[in-house]
Amino acid sequence: MIPVNEPLLNGNEKKYLNECINAGWISSEGPFVKKFEELFAGRAGRRFGIAVSSGSAALEAACAAIGLGKGDEVIMPAFTIVSCAAAVVRAGAIPVLADSDPMTWNMDVSKVEEKITKKTKAIMAVHTYGLPVDMKPLAALAEKYGIIIIEDAAEAHGLTCYGRPCGSFGLLSCFSFYPNKLVAAGEGGMITTDGEDVAEKCRSLRNLCFQPRRRFLHEELGWNFRMSNLQAAVGVAQLERLDEFAAIKRKMGAAYTGLLSDCHEIRLPLAKTDYSDNIYWVFGVVLGGRAGVDAAAVIGRLAAAGVEARQFFVPMHEQPVFRKMGLFAGESYPVAENLSRMGFYIPSGLALTEDQIAKVARCVREAVR
Ligand SMILES: *Cc1c(COP(=O)(O)O)cnc(C)c1O
Repeated sequence: MIPVNEPLLNGNEKKYLNECINAGWISSEGPFVKKFEELFAGRAGRRFGIAVSSGSAALEAACAAIGLGKGDEVIMPAFTIVSCAAAVVRAGAIPVLADSDPMTWNMDVSKVEEKITKKTKAIMAVHTYGLPVDMKPLAALAEKYGIIIIEDAAEAHGLTCYGRPCGSFGLLSCFSFYPNKLVAAGEGGMITTDGEDVAEKCRSLRNLCFQPRRRFLHEELGWNFRMSNLQAAVGVAQLERLDEFAAIKRKMGAAYTGLLSDCHEIRLPLAKTDYSDNIYWVFGVVLGGRAGVDAAAVIGRLAAAGVEARQFFVPMHEQPVFRKMGLFAGESYPVAENLSRMGFYIPSGLALTEDQIAKVARCVREAVR
């Protein structure tokens, strides 16, 4: 079976892990955590980086850091991972959804202003599958209405938007280091920001809100969202190769595009927009419907041929967990719904070989017919 993802761990990962073991530093107090935070923040064009235990934890801490609470609304794409809406719901606030752009699969920024109310506290700007959401109009709306932007750049390490790194927009940006992301650490996440106070707040929240003077006395509740020195050691080794990894992804994207461009049953990802070049975090395709099959059927056929593929996100308004809470009743986001039924991504890991790419493309052509 060709796996949908396989990370590349053949840089300095082992060397740095050995350093942790030899020095006896495996907890979050170890030196790689600070190093990773500094290097990563620099790469994202930010002053501060706060390492946490996952991308989901980063989003949750970011929501808490802006004081999100009961009655507040946060605008986000319907088509995203559950972590985005979960963070907002756990803060006691309400996620407000916007449909996707059919070409970039990101939030349709022309649908955002109509969702703004007096209660809108933040916009969650999520970069999806390798192309960024158009940050310019979102920044303009944030400015006009005094709304905070939280950027979810978990799929966007090394990606730029208008020449600026993803992870440098808005008040706070969140990353993940799950091993299918462009920088892997086993598990892990990072918040990047230029705000000194909000950075300090995030640091406190990730560490149970221990206080410097009297450690076990608490004014506020936080979480244990700490990252270990072991994870940070792997993260530093991975970050050293980010440019190389981005080049591998773009080469893979170009190869798939070349092999599949005349396959008329599917729509391929855009290679670029006016403001960005696709980094192909995953290589997603969307069935046109002409073939009379949906993504689930094609994935079954691919599995039988030895190729692992994965369906796109299920949009937030179709999640039973949120419907049971009374959220999104009667709402419909047709573009997100179509992406969810007709979209899937094929093996796109960094360890993928050219032969595997050729085989996957052959199998996809067969499976969508
Ligand atoms: C992966 C991902 C997350 C969650 O990251 P974890 O580290 O798995 O918790 C959040 N947002 C987006 C867009 C992601 O792709």
